[in-house]
Amino acid sequence: MKYIGAHVSASGGIEQAPVNAHEIGATAFALFTKNQRQWEARPLTKQSIDAFRSNCEKFGYKPHQILPHDSYLINLGHPEPGSLQKSRMAFFDEMQRCEQLGLDRLNFHPGSHLNQITEEQCLTTIANSINLALDKTTCVMAVIENTAGQGSNLGFSFYHLKKIIEQVNDKSRVGVCIDTCHAYSAGYDIKTKAGFEKVFAEFEEVVGFQYLKGMHLNDTKKELGSRVDRHDSLGKGFLGLEIFECIMNDPRFDGIPLILETPDETLWAEEIQTLKNMIR
Ligand SMILES: [Zn+2]
Ligand SMILES: [Zn+2]
Repeated sequence: MKYIGAHVSASGGIEQAPVNAHEIGATAFALFTKNQRQWEARPLTKQSIDAFRSNCEKFGYKPHQILPHDSYLINLGHPEPGSLQKSRMAFFDEMQRCEQLGLDRLNFHPGSHLNQITEEQCLTTIANSINLALDKTTCVMAVIENTAGQGSNLGFSFYHLKKIIEQVNDKSRVGVCIDTCHAYSAGYDIKTKAGFEKVFAEFEEVVGFQYLKGMHLNDTKKELGSRVDRHDSLGKGFLGLEIFECIMNDPRFDGIPLILETPDETLWAEEIQTLKNMIR
């Protein structure tokens, strides 16, 4: 079963997210559980939590069809102790919000070394941040997203994901999300069927499909290996549609949220239908 959706708005309350997803014909969705550009957030009210849960039930969204995304401000690999602590507190808060909402996974960008520590040191810091958050929560899973590798962001190589997972104590509560735009920008040539097969064979070898807990389906405005993160609508960028046909017809991508983060939200309903129509 393929669960296909988009990162929908939660303005007006998180309980609106499942409604917005249903309106575009989505069978999966992503959301922010707080304002993604601010550190502080009011706790979720019981009313909001109950409404979110009941809307999910009403429209048929189970936890494994929902992929919340954390704030862009958080850097779990921050080289400075004060800033690292701030990020860890914010991440823990987001993990807790997921648990309150009955959600089973939280998607996040691993972190940046800011040219102050080595890649290895940063990856270890990230893994330690995950361990701390898992210790303080009970069931939500930390889902690491691959990145385009812009600036000093880590996570652009499958080896980074592997290195982090290796140092996480509870392997049952860590996973990964692969963003097609980020992968291509990072230099993984997934544009053709042959390229797709080769890259995901490497993914299987280095990370393993048992860790795949979500996908972000985006085309890209930037060339292969550009290390620049600019999403584009499906079929409008450098990737084209072949990769998405491959994903839609590959059982290794069954049972997880497949999420559009494409820039033109007026196209989401159409893009979801296009993806559904690709299934042979
Ligand atoms: Zn992301
Ligand atoms: Zn993404």
